[in-house]
Amino acid sequence: MVELKNDTALDAMREAGRVVARALEAARKAAAVGVSPRELDEAARAVLAEAGAGSPFLGYRPSFAPTPFPAVICVSVNDAVVHGIPTDRPLADGDLVSVDCGAELDGWTGDAAISFTVGMPRPEDLELIATTERALQAGIAAAVPGNRIGDISHAIGTVAQAAGCGMPTDFGGHGIGRRMHEDPGVPNRGRPGRGYPLRPGLVLAIEPMLMAGGRDAYRTAGDGWTLCTVDGSRAAHVEHTVAVTEEGPRVLTRL
Ligand code: MG
Ligand code: MG
Repeated sequence: MVELKNDTALDAMREAGRVVARALEAARKAAAVGVSPRELDEAARAVLAEAGAGSPFLGYRPSFAPTPFPAVICVSVNDAVVHGIPTDRPLADGDLVSVDCGAELDGWTGDAAISFTVGMPRPEDLELIATTERALQAGIAAAVPGNRIGDISHAIGTVAQAAGCGMPTDFGGHGIGRRMHEDPGVPNRGRPGRGYPLRPGLVLAIEPMLMAGGRDAYRTAGDGWTLCTVDGSRAAHVEHTVAVTEEGPRVLTRL
């Protein structure tokens, strides 16, 4: 079932989204060569705690997962696409890091992700990140009344395809509100003019995840959580929580 949010709810979701943005910024600032993903998780935890926010990630256990998720952020490094569990293994020079974070505040949820490099970046990684961000912006621009979910999917998929990037077939964006994952799903590929109609008050987490190797295949790592590229190529993932409004897309997870 799809729940449309009124203006009061959107303002509350904006506050949850702001906490997500601050936690992501703290993780980005903490990230450096020699720093572990677990330390990024600690930085994000401190922001959530200070804001009085809960974590929809911590303890989350979807059907595919063998264990409850143990952190408030996912940290997916290099060939990891999404769902990386923060470890004690220090980040290395040139690593491509994707951080995904959620927050719950006053009963409402926000969900966003960023990708960045630490140390001396590889030019192709910067290009992959820029392409993924462009796909997100294209998806957001399509989140307007009168369009359908397929228009968002098509916008994202077009950018990915033009860049020769693959995307994991079974994962994409989602409706969001009181819970992190609500209807409708927001696939990263689709046909324009198809799917659920976009109406004011619909809130979506839009999240392209691009794999540089160009294949759509992925594998699950031994931890049962982390999605990795099958060819070892690098991946980037960015996400915003976005409300469809009469005035256009309203991004709820900016600072
Ligand atoms: Mg997310
Ligand atoms: Mg999400």
